[in-house]
Amino acid sequence: MIGNIVIVIASIIGMEIFALYFHKYFMHGPGWSWHESHHIRTEGRFEKNDLYGLCFSLIAAGLFIAGSLWWTPLWWMALGFTIYGVLYGFVHDGLVHQRWPFRYVPKGGYLYRLVLAHRLHHHTLTKDGAVSFGFLWAEEPDRLKAQLKAHNE
Ligand SMILES: [Zn+2]
Ligand SMILES: [Zn+2]
Repeated sequence: MIGNIVIVIASIIGMEIFALYFHKYFMHGPGWSWHESHHIRTEGRFEKNDLYGLCFSLIAAGLFIAGSLWWTPLWWMALGFTIYGVLYGFVHDGLVHQRWPFRYVPKGGYLYRLVLAHRLHHHTLTKDGAVSFGFLWAEEPDRLKAQLKAHNE
């Protein structure tokens, strides 16, 4: 059991590290055509960027199936990725972008720092020059502001 819990926790942490680099180098790189919809205002409830979430859910679903058929550790990995997806949805789509039917904005603490940091990510409407690519991990907002300023000078 301990081994499985380790797999789940490692998958959550690994996914945040992967997401940070994926966001920085792929979504703000060759994958910008999907991600741009998330940096500019678009009509309607959904944006093209949501397709990334859909792709990752399909990968997790595939891992659940592979894990139950062939190799159990994959199932626990899939569980970690799914928990990451839920946390991402809660923080990014919920806390930051308020895509839920009620309004709740944290007033302080680490969650507030996460919201501020991701808002600073959205100061950039283009592919280049953005700061703060993590979703569950955020740098000190003052440092991010300095990075933004340095880039715009
Ligand atoms: Zn972005
Ligand atoms: Zn965002």
